[in-house]
Amino acid sequence: MKYLPLHIHTDFSNGDALLNVDSYVQWAKENEYPSITVTDHGNLCASLYFNQVASKAGIKSIIGLEAYCAFEREFKSEVKEEKRERDHCVLIAKNYQGYLDLCWLLGQAMRNTFYYKPIILYEELVKYNKNLIVSSACMGGRIPKLVLENKEDEAIEFIEYMKSVFGSDFYIEVMEVEMPDQTAFNQWAINNYKRLGVKIIWTTDTHYLKPEHAEAHDVMKLINTKTSFKDEGWEKRVYKSRNLWLKKREDILDEAKQNGYDLDLVNEFLDNTLEIDSKVEPVKLTRAPEVIMPKFADNSYEILEKKAFDALKARGWDKRPGYIERVKSELEVIKLKRMEDYFLIVADIVNFAENNDVLCGCGRGCFLPGSFVKGEGTMIDIVEIKKSQKVYTHKGRLREVDDIFKYKVENEKMLKIKLANGETLGEGNTIDHEIFVLPKGKEKKLENVVLKQAKDIVIGDCLIKL
Ligand SMILES: [Zn+2]
Ligand SMILES: [Zn+2]
Repeated sequence: MKYLPLHIHTDFSNGDALLNVDSYVQWAKENEYPSITVTDHGNLCASLYFNQVASKAGIKSIIGLEAYCAFEREFKSEVKEEKRERDHCVLIAKNYQGYLDLCWLLGQAMRNTFYYKPIILYEELVKYNKNLIVSSACMGGRIPKLVLENKEDEAIEFIEYMKSVFGSDFYIEVMEVEMPDQTAFNQWAINNYKRLGVKIIWTTDTHYLKPEHAEAHDVMKLINTKTSFKDEGWEKRVYKSRNLWLKKREDILDEAKQNGYDLDLVNEFLDNTLEIDSKVEPVKLTRAPEVIMPKFADNSYEILEKKAFDALKARGWDKRPGYIERVKSELEVIKLKRMEDYFLIVADIVNFAENNDVLCGCGRGCFLPGSFVKGEGTMIDIVEIKKSQKVYTHKGRLREVDDIFKYKVENEKMLKIKLANGETLGEGNTIDHEIFVLPKGKEKKLENVVLKQAKDIVIGDCLIKL
């Protein structure tokens, strides 16, 4: 008998995991796992690709998410002790409606409660209890954190709350990551198993395919945090656990035996994952437009490659030194990241907009004629700028102008900010122009700086001059 791997991070976990969806599905096929789950950190970006690859391989794809959660009071609180760190929480869609619910919850969190990460409020989550399955996640989860802080009563209160909302669709998660805190929590959960009245599941919190990938995972974490092995304290930037690989049932049992767990219980916890599998209906995600292949290409990469080189020639840039190599290396990255369809679809959207008089475009600017841009040693009126001229970007880098796009803005509202000293700012910008501000009431601390669109600025906000 197998089990359902259900706490799995892929390389869509934003620089936190190495497992590639294709190799994950391949693993499931080779080892005859009929159902597998993806639960990336704070996003559902792998869902569509995972669903398509798995269905081609005849494997049931279960869509989930390791969300960041908090209660509203904790999210809003300015007091350090009340503002808890966000909790990890694994959410699984039971069916297509559950997938839509996850999309909605995540969208809300992106828009309304984003603080470094999209934070789903428990108050919102509980409204979607019909089509979701919830589990307590890793040591970043609320229950393990409370137990380790010796706040057992609060942990049990939270368990009762989740039980009252999600009933038998709420599970407690244990795993073997060979870390003392996790081992202590596992023990607590096992000791209280019957008393809590919640089923326990055994998971793997997988971040890479094989044990030997732990070091490559370290490298990825360091790149992600701009740290090198030469930097002092780099060890703090990587996971201490070396045990976050993708395990088969027999691997889990071997490990549990070595570490002295009661194997009957571990088998029961693994079987409980199969109960989750039986609760989940297969879904088919088909919302991405399909790319129709032209005669000259077998796959979308070939289309993109041809378009890129045709455009290079049309501009005469294929004669310039370095340009061909540059396009080749960018195409290689796009291919590696499987982003070719994305580029083709965005190009279609932009081309359609340009041909149909719709305001749109990659790099649509917010400067109007009469605005000045910093050039080499001088300010230049934006309408005077020519291709190949050098100007400073908003990040302060001196760059050559590759191309010039012009947009009609007759029907757009313009930005006009009047400072307290009577000076007027920004009359030449559209209202979606972004400006760094210290929000009203928080102007004392520079760490409160946020990027606001001009239309969202209120009287009393303090503008930051760069
Ligand atoms: Zn976690
Ligand atoms: Zn995780």
